[in-house]
Amino acid sequence: VFNFSAGPATLPEPVLRQAAEEMLDWHGSGMSVMEMSHRGKEYMGIHAECEADLRELLAIPSNYKVVFLQGGAIGQNAFVPMNLYRGKASADYINTGEWSKKSIKEAKKYGQVNVAATAEPNGFTAIPRPDTWKLDPNAAYVHICSNETIGGMQYHFTPDTGDVPLVADMSSDILSRPIDVSRYGLIYCGAQKNIGPAGLTIIIVREDLIGQALPITPSAFDLKQQADNDSMLNTPPTYAIYIAGLVFKWLKKQGGLKAMEAHNATKAALLYDYLDTTSFYSCPIAKADRSLMNVPFKLKDESLDEAFLKGAKERGMVQLKGHRSVGGMRASIYNAMPVEGVKALVAYMKDFEKANG
Ligand code: PLP
Repeated sequence: VFNFSAGPATLPEPVLRQAAEEMLDWHGSGMSVMEMSHRGKEYMGIHAECEADLRELLAIPSNYKVVFLQGGAIGQNAFVPMNLYRGKASADYINTGEWSKKSIKEAKKYGQVNVAATAEPNGFTAIPRPDTWKLDPNAAYVHICSNETIGGMQYHFTPDTGDVPLVADMSSDILSRPIDVSRYGLIYCGAQKNIGPAGLTIIIVREDLIGQALPITPSAFDLKQQADNDSMLNTPPTYAIYIAGLVFKWLKKQGGLKAMEAHNATKAALLYDYLDTTSFYSCPIAKADRSLMNVPFKLKDESLDEAFLKGAKERGMVQLKGHRSVGGMRASIYNAMPVEGVKALVAYMKDFEKANG
């Protein structure tokens, strides 16, 4: 089947095959990776290679730490303020949709939040342009969600926040395109879209931001303690890290992030170009801010939604139902979705329009 789920999402097939082959006996060790001591030679090697490959893919500068944790991106909504307020009075947040709203709500437990810009007045269909943001030059950081998985809006620019560190939730678009890590103070993501199984959270952070956690910060969430211990203050999600490492190798084989960017742009264009030629379906998002990862669309006649989903399933296309908060449909087309999957979807959409339009 072609799985259009927003996450956990499809993994590359060669990665799943390799994982299956190595499941019971990793490289002649007689053990599954799941059974290895996280401080043993074998696992330490897997862990180090995983980090090295991620650094290579994203060209992460040497003054940035990579931390592998548990707790998901929702955990990061607390982790970030606990570690980055650093005695400052408030932090700036840009509200572009459901995931930004969750980040804002959680941060308010730990400090003052200034919503410096919000897409609420336009119904979360366009990202407010940075020249309208009311940024505080003394803010602890500026938080954005680079890709709103539910609403389908994505930043196609990197905001300039001057000396104030830029923090981004990249859960649903990390590794989908090259980024300039040096423009960010901290990047975080849950792994279950473009990287690997749920249960792994990755943080990429500039070193000078480490070490000023609020006193209430749990040790497992203390950036300094985790960074100083190479993410092994507690047992890291070892199996998820191993799978992530396989995905990183697969990405390198595909040609890295430039190749992924082209692959993802091709897929998204197939869908959006068709959506723009028909009134049977519609996508509400401003063209400049459309997500290349999550494509939301609605049928003009909502009463056909169930029939649309049923027909899609019969053709092997699953999990196209939009998030309950916005309704309609959503096609999530992460790195591992092949172009054929999107072509099949567009062909089906055309047939469905012909039959019902
Ligand atoms: N942020 C974004 C942009 C997401 O898409 C998600 C969801 O899957 C989350 C945060 C929440 O992540 P998690 O479930 O890993 O806590």
